[in-house]
Amino acid sequence: MDTFKALMVDLKENTVQATIRETPCDALPPGDVLVAVAYSSLNYKDGLAITGKGKIVRSYPMVPGIDLAGTVVESQSPDFQPGDRVLLTGWGVGERHWGGYAQMARVQAGWLLPLPAGLTMAQAMGIGSAGFTAMQCVMALEEHGVMPSGGEVVVTGATGGVGSFAVAILANLGYSVVAVTGRPQFHDYLRALGASGFLGREELASPRKPLESERWAGAVDVVGGAVLSGLLPSMAYGSSVAMCGLAGGSDLVTTVFPFILRGVNLLGIDSVRCPPPRRRLVWERIGRDVSLEKLDAVVQVEPLERLLTLGDEIVQGRVRGRVVIDVNG
Ligand code: NDP
Repeated sequence: MDTFKALMVDLKENTVQATIRETPCDALPPGDVLVAVAYSSLNYKDGLAITGKGKIVRSYPMVPGIDLAGTVVESQSPDFQPGDRVLLTGWGVGERHWGGYAQMARVQAGWLLPLPAGLTMAQAMGIGSAGFTAMQCVMALEEHGVMPSGGEVVVTGATGGVGSFAVAILANLGYSVVAVTGRPQFHDYLRALGASGFLGREELASPRKPLESERWAGAVDVVGGAVLSGLLPSMAYGSSVAMCGLAGGSDLVTTVFPFILRGVNLLGIDSVRCPPPRRRLVWERIGRDVSLEKLDAVVQVEPLERLLTLGDEIVQGRVRGRVVIDVNG
């Protein structure tokens, strides 16, 4: 194979343009493992990279796609052999280094994990950075003492990728989950994932006092901005918020009162540079706590070409759950 199909973004006259084109294999960036990619996935960050609406891509031309799963073709690393099935999420792939929206990828061995037992490549990409981040959020809450018996937990941006997994994982663990969504037409979808209550985005984003009555034992926030600002006054004594996203904005307006009078913990979550030992633990927990039945309900599979429109749709908040990209489809 001398060439491979890739979705490439270029910067031309200050405008980002995404095209799908045959690319020579010798144009691949340096790395010690060559992977024949089978599947990638669509994340919010990928939408920003494809559309150029956020400063995600650090150099052009770039193959976006922050997640990939495939089979090792060549390896200069003793850790991987040709034929191994592997998985990659984060590490700046699709931002600084060519990523998963291509039939081939050359990457660093240290970024790869063996495909977790019991998962197909498509399932692993259904989980991808979104499910991985949701699991990190849940683990951070647990490590700060949030327990199912402690009361209701809340998930914002609930119908999105991270949100859908957070709802499903927390419900599976026995938490009473309230889903915050701007799309009430998807209440049935969220109920099937395990949500037992709902709030509209605007109910949290409306102006608040520094402290409200204590309601939430824990929170997973993917939205940031006014929604996170609106959540903090209602966090219960000793509760924790796992904060991972900015789909609604990067500003955070708050007072110190939830933190100094109620001991609320605001926990920052990063999936990109999560160290390998922690990654393995997170994937182990995914294997235990993500129901494959619910995974099927969350995922749709699309060919590479669909990314040219899906990139914009995810940035507009119009994608539900997770999109897996079949790069050979
Ligand atoms: P999705 O687009 O799938 O989900 C985001 C959800 O947020 C939407 O489905 C929508 O949910 C809600 N939303 C969208 N726009 C707005 C808005 N303007 N105001 C309020 N709510 C909005 O994205 P992902 O799940 O892939 O990612 C979610 C966030 O998490 C992103 O900001 C992403 O960058 C971040 N992230 C961070 C990671 C990390 O390592 N820290 C890793 C992965 C993701 P609804 O319609 O239900 O309200």
